[in-house]
Amino acid sequence: AAGMRLQLTAIPYGERGRLLLARDVSHVSRLEQMRRDFVANVSHELRTPLTVIHGYLELLEPDEVPALAPVLAEMRLQSQRMREIVEDLLTLSRLEMERQLPEEWVNMSAMLRVMRREAEALSQGRHRVVLEDEAGLDLLGSHRDLHSAFSNLVSNAVRYTPEGGVITIGWKQTPKGATYSVADTGYGIPAEHLSRLTERFYRVSSSRSRITGGTGLGLSIVKHVLNLHAARLDIASELGKGSRFSATFSAARLRKTEHP
Ligand code: ADP
Repeated sequence: AAGMRLQLTAIPYGERGRLLLARDVSHVSRLEQMRRDFVANVSHELRTPLTVIHGYLELLEPDEVPALAPVLAEMRLQSQRMREIVEDLLTLSRLEMERQLPEEWVNMSAMLRVMRREAEALSQGRHRVVLEDEAGLDLLGSHRDLHSAFSNLVSNAVRYTPEGGVITIGWKQTPKGATYSVADTGYGIPAEHLSRLTERFYRVSSSRSRITGGTGLGLSIVKHVLNLHAARLDIASELGKGSRFSATFSAARLRKTEHP
């Protein structure tokens, strides 16, 4: 039937046989679609009122009642956080609906230099930022979405690394493709959390995350963008030593850079 979705599972049966199990999962994808639409609509509807609140908060001057200054500062901070969450949710909704992203050749040397500037701006001199740009390869994909994925990894590295740490941003050729990586010498992540990091709103420590900012949606966005580029995300981390996030792209998406 039109629009019907079947899930097929093959189960070993007898000596050499296979049992084919067909399950109607149409209702599951319908529910999933409803969930997606709901999140997208709510985020969209929240955008305007939040912008208005944020705008007025920026205009308020606490001069007349000095005691209000810290209250106002906190309100500005929280309204900014809410805006970031809504923007990230809208990004995720868009990525979930996307089947095929725009394809353009991204000059990765230029991209890495942008990443260094972003890292330095966020770090404000508290970390050393190192570039290892060795691949000499352009990457085929959506410039805007790759930029947002790569920059999420950079901002995490800065936010989860104490002062004096080193952030290394790399782009290297591998036997079957090329890998973009962000390594830090920060807090690290306990092994039992690694497999769940890319879930929406999943955070290892809520108390630390509150201080470091962020929405808990960054790695979900990274995961979606990489999926749409048929890339793999690997996470290696050691508690107290640091973490390394690497995205590996296949050779089909690469070409030699002509003007680095
Ligand atoms: P957040 O906005 O909380 O940073 P993310 O989805 O980007 O959301 O990351 C999810 C969680 O993964 C973070 O809350 C943090 O606990 C952990 N994490 C991500 N990157 C790093 C890193 N480089 N070092 C240590 N922990 C990290």
